[in-house]
Amino acid sequence: MRTPIIAGNWKLNNTISESLELVKGIHYGLTDVSGVEVVVAPTYTAISKVADFLKDSAIAVSGQDVFWEDSGAFTATISAPLLKDVGADYAIIGHSERRQYFGETDEMVNKRVKAALKHNLIPIVCVGETLEEREAEQVEKVVNTQLSGGLAGLTSEEIAELVIAYEPVWAIGTGKTASPEQAEEVHQLIRNIVASDFGQEAADKVRILYGGSVKPANSKELMSQPNIDGALVGGASLKADDFLGIIKNI
Ligand code: PEP
Repeated sequence: MRTPIIAGNWKLNNTISESLELVKGIHYGLTDVSGVEVVVAPTYTAISKVADFLKDSAIAVSGQDVFWEDSGAFTATISAPLLKDVGADYAIIGHSERRQYFGETDEMVNKRVKAALKHNLIPIVCVGETLEEREAEQVEKVVNTQLSGGLAGLTSEEIAELVIAYEPVWAIGTGKTASPEQAEEVHQLIRNIVASDFGQEAADKVRILYGGSVKPANSKELMSQPNIDGALVGGASLKADDFLGIIKNI
């Protein structure tokens, strides 16, 4: 039985006070919810304050990225020990915006995943195809390449503990959502790839989230697919009511 995860990626949004207002809204709205892990990924200026507020809460905190070195002359990066220091338990890695705007490669994703695991941060590894790749019927090839590069050298035990997020790039922030069938097809494919590369036990345990314009109105159908174990939410995670609606739909 895989415990579902609903993770909110706040991206480059919210001041410290806005972040605290948002996280309080989520926290106090969750009193009657169980059986789902809730994660928020604030900006780096707000993460410490948000993590302090959530110290005794079941809501976990995530970095939006993590660098592979622990410390040193690496301007503007964030390391796994620093994320652990503020109380984070997760790190989003290889988000399509990192790949698109910051030139992140599968090899870099792999180094980040290894650094996160070394410091007991749970990686949320993002994969997904662009619209051109989907139209060219390259989904399987793209996802396979991203997974084999990003997860290279990991053990089956490590794979079982991490989280994969399938985020079709054409559905992120566009209002276009993959249909439940389209999403399920790729989630099944991802689980099959994990099974063939790392064994059936790891494939049965690894949680695969869907991301791409998830909102309360479409989350129920998406989340009811057998291989969809939750959601990575961007825009709708910035409003407590919308995020709570998605969590409660699961
Ligand atoms: C994301 O950025 O991970 C995401 C899924 O964004 P949105 O929900 O806004 O499409």
